[in-house]
Amino acid sequence: MNVELAPVVTLRNGAKMPLLGLGTWPMENAEAAEVVETALDMGYRLIDTAENYGNEPGVGTAIKRSAVPREEIFVTTKFNKQWHSYDGVEEAFEASARRLGVEYIDLLMVHWPVPEQDRYVDAVAGMAKLLADGRIRAIGVSNFKPTHLRRLFDSGLVPEVNQIQLDPLHTRPDIVALHREHGIVTEAWGPLGRGGALLQDPTITALAEKHGRTPAQIVLRWHTLVGNVAIPKSSHPDRLAENLAIFDFVLGREELDALSALNAGDEGLLDADIFGH
Ligand code: NDP
Repeated sequence: MNVELAPVVTLRNGAKMPLLGLGTWPMENAEAAEVVETALDMGYRLIDTAENYGNEPGVGTAIKRSAVPREEIFVTTKFNKQWHSYDGVEEAFEASARRLGVEYIDLLMVHWPVPEQDRYVDAVAGMAKLLADGRIRAIGVSNFKPTHLRRLFDSGLVPEVNQIQLDPLHTRPDIVALHREHGIVTEAWGPLGRGGALLQDPTITALAEKHGRTPAQIVLRWHTLVGNVAIPKSSHPDRLAENLAIFDFVLGREELDALSALNAGDEGLLDADIFGH
């Protein structure tokens, strides 16, 4: 098998994470099994799932069926608020690992901080023992805002990755600056704008025309050049291939800045102080 792989970013603890991966929400198990296997064949090596998506078994089926060795795949999943405690995290890990049929998980994430419950600091602390004994390769959080991250820092905890909703219309500069300061990798969910108006934006379509690429490729190249890991979801083989085929061209500084300047702020995004599971 001779496929082009995405470049990797080295996390603070030395683990290597592909810059581009596959999102699997809202695939059901049968679809996830098929699409993830296709994606692995094409060269995807980062797969994103979650307890909450209900498709970890399907993702696991694909990993088992695939000719790609387990250790070449970066498997990421997330757990719900009921496991936000020092010991609960271990149960969450065991349940996800069993559903996925894997011995270890590359990146385990607190899916949402759920501040009203106020137990996310314990959850991150609990992941340290999973990291120490090799059951996970990196500690992650998701949808954490600066206030939530600072609570972790105050307890001496720094996750390797924070997966947040981010695209050129929502560049989240306050969170990204804090990530940079602490060596946290920014992983973008909804990187293509979740099927919204993003891919019709005139700045993006003009760059697509100029480079002979699709709008999705321009947006994904922007993510990976400004330092984000991106996990676009597609269930279609042609789009899976399109979304991965971005590492043979670059955007210039001014082009990247023009895309970043599309930022319209956080309005309309899910607010992790209110929403979460
Ligand atoms: P995306 O920005 O990845 O957009 C997905 C949509 O874009 C789908 O409708 C897909 O349709 C379409 N699409 C994919 N590729 C192309 C293309 N090349 N051209 C045009 N349209 C395209 O949004 P998601 O919300 O799916 O986010 C990605 C992943 O992030 C999720 O799958 C999930 O793994 C994760 N996520 C994490 C959350 C969190 O709380 N941490 C919350 C939500 C998502 P089609 O499938 O038909 O190709």
